[in-house]
Amino acid sequence: MTARSIPDWLKSPGYRVPRSCCRGGRPTRADRADPVQYQGVSAAPGTDGEVPTFWRQLGLPGLVDVHVHFLPERMQRRVWARFDLAGPLVGRSWPIAYRWSEAERVAHLEQLGVRRFTALAYAHQSRMAADLNDWTLDFAARTPGCLPSATFYPEPGVLGYVRHALDRGARIFKLHLQVGAFDPLDPRLDEVWALLADRGTPIVVHAGSGPVPAEHTGPGPIGAVLARHPRLAVVIAHLGMPEYAEFLDLAERYQRVALDTTMAFTDFVELVDFIGPAAPFPRALRGRLRDLGLAGKVMLGSDFPNIPYPYAHQLQALARLELGDDWLRAVCWDNGQRLC
Ligand SMILES: [Zn+2]
Repeated sequence: MTARSIPDWLKSPGYRVPRSCCRGGRPTRADRADPVQYQGVSAAPGTDGEVPTFWRQLGLPGLVDVHVHFLPERMQRRVWARFDLAGPLVGRSWPIAYRWSEAERVAHLEQLGVRRFTALAYAHQSRMAADLNDWTLDFAARTPGCLPSATFYPEPGVLGYVRHALDRGARIFKLHLQVGAFDPLDPRLDEVWALLADRGTPIVVHAGSGPVPAEHTGPGPIGAVLARHPRLAVVIAHLGMPEYAEFLDLAERYQRVALDTTMAFTDFVELVDFIGPAAPFPRALRGRLRDLGLAGKVMLGSDFPNIPYPYAHQLQALARLELGDDWLRAVCWDNGQRLC
């Protein structure tokens, strides 16, 4: 990645692109942007180094992040290559800010004060989910703070390996309906949904049509699963962008449906072309967002490490909504803590 390939919008006020985007290596003190102060919020972090001050001023013991990715090394490199190419499923330039070794990424989460995080992986074809689960569950076992995470795919044997993952301690699942490109109503998944509903195990689902719509994205397909299994603890990733209102509806309608904040409200989504036009969160929905957060149904997600801006920017983006410190405490700690 050369410096020239970094678009100007990434250098907009409020955050800086870590130098790792430009020439490799970790961000240094020279990367520090001036802290951004938003009215009513005293400690919106301008840089990753200021993140602990943010949660301490809120009186929190740290952060819970329900949307973090860790993958086997080879697969991680392939995923980053896909972002580099800005291919059809990505749809735009997407420089990865934290293209670091696994050990460095784990250490960075610790420095940020992320006390609990997931290791979300997902399958884009058959015969890979069970192996992925072995890897993510092993990773969680050797990584303090990491929640045992797993995935599944409509294929023969899916119920068996989901049971096996649960027996191994899986506490959260992930599905990606855009990359996976399968119908969540596939009959091979019916017993899986029933089992997870019965256990109350949360499933983070990329169901929204951002960054690029696909056949099984949007509120319809996952909404049909919920109509059939209304007790499912589905966490709608990315706040369902760009179909925010429809996914807020689902969270209001179903007792255990929640939303994660991953990439929502960031400049990357609010200001630049994300799905063609930008996908800004409609102001008119803020009251509902506030109520859902205070009701335990909105939780911090970041997409670390696959983000084109510093981690701190996700927190800035939440703070500048000005929904209040109680809301921030619920979203950044309580709700994720209660979920899993
Ligand atoms: Zn993600």
